[in-house]
Amino acid sequence: MSFVQGLRCRECGELYPKAALHVCELCFGPLEVVYDYEKIKKSISRDIIASRKKGMWRYRELLPIDGEPVVGHDTGFTPLVRSHNLARKLGVKELYIKNDTVNHPTFSFKDRVVSVAISKAKELGFDTVACASTGNLANSVAANAAACGMKSYVFIPYNLEHAKVLNTQVYGANVVGIRGNYDEVNRLCSEIAGKYGWAFVNITIRPYYAEGSKTLALEVAEQLGWSAPQNIVVPMASGSLLTKVYKGFKELHELGLIHDMNTKIYGAQATGCSPISTAVKEHQELFKPVIPKTIAKSLAIGNPADGFYAIDTINKTGGWAEDVSDDEVIEGIKLLSETEGIFAETAGGVTVGVAKKLIEKGILPKNESVVLLITGNGLKTQEALLNKVDSLTVIPARLDAFDDMLKEKEKAKSR
Ligand SMILES: *Cc1c(COP(=O)(O)O)cnc(C)c1O
Ligand SMILES: [Zn+2]
Repeated sequence: MSFVQGLRCRECGELYPKAALHVCELCFGPLEVVYDYEKIKKSISRDIIASRKKGMWRYRELLPIDGEPVVGHDTGFTPLVRSHNLARKLGVKELYIKNDTVNHPTFSFKDRVVSVAISKAKELGFDTVACASTGNLANSVAANAAACGMKSYVFIPYNLEHAKVLNTQVYGANVVGIRGNYDEVNRLCSEIAGKYGWAFVNITIRPYYAEGSKTLALEVAEQLGWSAPQNIVVPMASGSLLTKVYKGFKELHELGLIHDMNTKIYGAQATGCSPISTAVKEHQELFKPVIPKTIAKSLAIGNPADGFYAIDTINKTGGWAEDVSDDEVIEGIKLLSETEGIFAETAGGVTVGVAKKLIEKGILPKNESVVLLITGNGLKTQEALLNKVDSLTVIPARLDAFDDMLKEKEKAKSR
């Protein structure tokens, strides 16, 4: 059973059927999935959801699939970790880490959006899925396409991190490196999509794809005992995740599953690619596209498709945005690892770094609940830490050598 009424233009409100459409024919505005909330209200409750398997599909009424999903049965419901050590370090009372570094199967939040997109692509009759990616999407499209027997074409900037490239190729995907940045890859993919008719998950079927992001918000609220946090910090690339976190909390409120929805949403970017955070800080409604230059490659989109809506969402929730330097990104990765034992990729370093900065500036309140969305795994962006951790101490396999080493260490400490 489906609860989707169709697609609607976010700009002019024109309605469209639930097909492989993504832009409005009248005004070129982006399309969004519309649900029948009255019907959903009659079908779900907190208890019904709680009785289901722990995964993102426990919220299936709020996802745009008509039949059964073909992938992602084990995706989502990642830990919401109550932080004590990092909380103390940052001086906040109630801090949580939503840990999507361990999402199934490719260790980033992109497994959520891809589960929905590929299931929808199958439903719409496609046999080939494709994407333009900054890395994590590539991994997830390749893995999930393999898992459900679809062909995949993945387009990436040629200079992505080694692990992100290998983690795409290993699944047998057709991987194409493009000599250019993500925005150039994306432009090319729009042309390829028009010519070859494949389901480009984040372009031609983007309205469905984007809905998968909501499950992060739905899970956070359920894991907090069915309440939305007072503050949430969200990393931004295209800005889509941030807008869908808002939509997720709002839907729960509309359905009566949470009582209040006063969450302030904060956007996080790297200074080397900060079109959205810069616009927010300068009180602009529109962003200026940039040429990305940052180690946070997964967030390196200079012309973000949902930038305008992300700015609007941040402003209307009373949130804010900030950006951090590459050094602060590395510091953020280390801080999270050393305090909580969670190794995040560069995007996680951005989120932690921005949270720290917002707290220091007094913008993020210390006495309210704060959730940090940690969206990808650090094992994929090891280049970022090259020469940024101590070199390995190597000794012969002898006890006296170890004794000497320990003495040396003590001496160095007392110096
Ligand atoms: C893609 C991605 C995001 C955010 O993506 P949006 O385009 O803003 O939805 C955040 N973190 C990681 C690790 C990502 O790969
Ligand atoms: Zn329109």
